Amino acid sequence: MKFMSDDPLQIAPDVMESLEKKGVSRRDFMKWCTGMAAMLALPSSFIPKIAEAVLAQKPYLVWLEYQDCAGDSEALLRATAPTVGQIVLDILSVEYHETIMAPSGHMAEKSLMDVVENQKGKYFVVVEGSIPMKDNGVYCCIGGRSALDLAREVCGNAAATIAVGTCATHGGIPAAHPNPTGAVGVKEAVPNATVINIPGCPMNVENLTATIVHYLTLGRLPQTDNLGRPLFAFGKRIHDNCERRGHFDAGQFVREWGDAGHRQGWCLYEMGCKGPATFHNCPTVKYNGGTSWPVQAGHGCFGCSEPHFWDTMGPVYKRLPNVPGFGVEKTADKIGAGLAAATAAGLVLHGIGRAISPKKKDEE
Ligand code: SF4
Repeated sequence: MKFMSDDPLQIAPDVMESLEKKGVSRRDFMKWCTGMAAMLALPSSFIPKIAEAVLAQKPYLVWLEYQDCAGDSEALLRATAPTVGQIVLDILSVEYHETIMAPSGHMAEKSLMDVVENQKGKYFVVVEGSIPMKDNGVYCCIGGRSALDLAREVCGNAAATIAVGTCATHGGIPAAHPNPTGAVGVKEAVPNATVINIPGCPMNVENLTATIVHYLTLGRLPQTDNLGRPLFAFGKRIHDNCERRGHFDAGQFVREWGDAGHRQGWCLYEMGCKGPATFHNCPTVKYNGGTSWPVQAGHGCFGCSEPHFWDTMGPVYKRLPNVPGFGVEKTADKIGAGLAAATAAGLVLHGIGRAISPKKKDEE
């Protein structure tokens, strides 16, 4: 690719012309590259590198869908930066996605196997949905093969697998008690595959895009926490960046839906918000192109990006149980400025949601 030396983004005129023909202005592209660098905490010197990496490569990607609600595909289709059309046509060569591809039946399955055979070790896989392990995986089959069998072959031969949504990362709702199909996340089903986890119900497509951009720019997946989640997106708790945090620190809590505090945007902790025990960048990235996110809309976080949240973080509208080392439950009623420091110091551990006791049988 040829670059212009007087252009800070160093985009060749013919490449820029091709982007403009697809409705992407230079300003849009610059803004997108800058946003990606900021999200990945890369210095501004990486902005032209991101532009070059994204424009120079068109890696193959296959999207597998197993036990799920298609919420992550929905999230992809709602992507605004870049638009889904740009992701599908410009950045990636999406060869297989059951929900949006034109071929069907044997032709579709052939497209998948062609990528596995011809691009071995070079393609990406995105997996949406959990994989049933019970009874040899008979509870989810595509084209006559079990999800488990397919995932072993497709993920096992990929450069990297990105598990999106909480079902693909940790089993999600299908794995909730009593987990009748033996559902698990991709890493548990295919332990030899290189897997990064982007949980959420659904995942945030900005986090998926940034993970791919990181790989294209630096040649490796981003650093992760002990649950395989990229630190750029899951390194901080919801509570750390929540716009209602000032009200938490001031002891101003919503006590009933629609009360004066709720109308004034006070803290939702008393209404069951699990933000203090949930790691995700929802408050900073938000959803639908940065329009809003649940807490901004007036509903507490229910911890959907934590493993087994359905069994361990509930009930949805009850205050967090007392987590060892956390202390909010004991002090929420007499909260004051001092608590902010105490909780901040006490909650730097990842995966704290797992310390919450599983739901007892008689509570189900
Ligand atoms: S408890 Fe929930 S609503 Fe309150 S500050 Fe924390 S994350 Fe925000």
